[in-house]
Amino acid sequence: MSMNRVRSEQWYQEALTHIVGGVNSPSRSFKAVGGGAPVFMERGQGAYFWDIDGNKYIDYLAAYGPIIVGHAHPHVTEAITRAAQNGTLYGTPTTLEVTFAKMLKDAIPSLDKVRFVNSGTEAVMTTIRVARAYTKRNKIIKFAGCYHGHSDLVLVAAGSGPSTLGIPDSAGIPATIAQEVITVPFNDLDALQVALERWGDDVAAVMVEPIVGNFGMVMPAPGFLEGLCRLTRQFGALVIYDEVISAFRFHYGSAQTFAAFDDFAAIEPDLTALGKIIGGGLPIGAYGGRKQVMEQVAPLGPAYQAGTMAGNPASITAGIACLEVLQKPGTYERMDALAAALVDGLETSAAKHGMPLTINRIRGSFSTHFCDHPVTNYEEAQTSDGEMFARFFREMLEQGICLAPSKYEAWFLTTEHTEDDIARTIQAADHAFYQMSR
Ligand code: PMP
Repeated sequence: MSMNRVRSEQWYQEALTHIVGGVNSPSRSFKAVGGGAPVFMERGQGAYFWDIDGNKYIDYLAAYGPIIVGHAHPHVTEAITRAAQNGTLYGTPTTLEVTFAKMLKDAIPSLDKVRFVNSGTEAVMTTIRVARAYTKRNKIIKFAGCYHGHSDLVLVAAGSGPSTLGIPDSAGIPATIAQEVITVPFNDLDALQVALERWGDDVAAVMVEPIVGNFGMVMPAPGFLEGLCRLTRQFGALVIYDEVISAFRFHYGSAQTFAAFDDFAAIEPDLTALGKIIGGGLPIGAYGGRKQVMEQVAPLGPAYQAGTMAGNPASITAGIACLEVLQKPGTYERMDALAAALVDGLETSAAKHGMPLTINRIRGSFSTHFCDHPVTNYEEAQTSDGEMFARFFREMLEQGICLAPSKYEAWFLTTEHTEDDIARTIQAADHAFYQMSR
């Protein structure tokens, strides 16, 4: 029996006439999973949301990461209501911003100083400007498949070969800008070294998702981050961690403070970009890092960055409330256990139906790759079967399980998912794999 989504289809047609592509972010379209109308959601509560046709879904999209305490969490909702009642924007400093900055610093000690902005894109974009101001160099090294928002410099793909100057990944980016970016494969220290030896004198920073969330979830190989930091500094460049996804995702802290790494003292970046979870579901970004580097930023230094909405009381209040929920003992352990059970169920079922499935799990988040080899870099992630994923995605959606409509996106557990949700999801996947294997 197929779900009725007539109203989503009608509104999608209407949306297409008013909003470019019918969506306000391309990742929301169903282009990568065979096209057609995306689902229009109306209401979210905890681990569920309901579409405008009244269908209920278990949500593993979590709005691409931020909704880690579930939809409309009472503590966050109360905080947002309070903020709205007090006026949402003053254009002056508030004590809330100071409190929140201290909270972030306590969790991520490399942040001597922070600045709030409005999105992950802005945070990353500004770290690059600050690194360039500090080093007085122009080039950036990034890793293939890592996504760092849509600013010109980081929307650049690898050229051919293991270590090449970038080519623009989007129209509207001058080749002269793309040429300032060098892309190397993730988890490949040799390629990084080759790039640094060739262009090192002009490299301002090496930018990395320390735990990758954008071509599936991918852990750095043992020693990769430590080697990255050592090599980068050897060439006088700065290390920038894009922790827009990874901060507060795996534990109360970020990848750089994650005890899963042997020696996290050796993997401290100079600058860090944050976003997503730290806004508790409202728009936010933040960046921060070493005092001397951050002192490049206006009004102290010559690197300019500003924002009418930056540090607005609503986003900050929601962020504080979200982190307060995450501070409760056992929060991450519970998401870890639920995700482990879910992955175990998915793997067992996939094996039963002869489906090639590689799952990369890091605590409460994981990615599913329809392939029979490990996924440790973008090249390997690309070879997972997109058509199989599209089929799986649609079979799951029909059964009320909402995943991100892309083979590269992760599944995110929230504090609100239950054992029953996990059991229902495994059952749905078993049915999906069965249908796919026929
Ligand atoms: N960095 C990373 C690692 C991201 O995953 C994203 C968004 N998916 C961004 C930056 C950009 O954040 P935003 O969409 O808030 O601009």
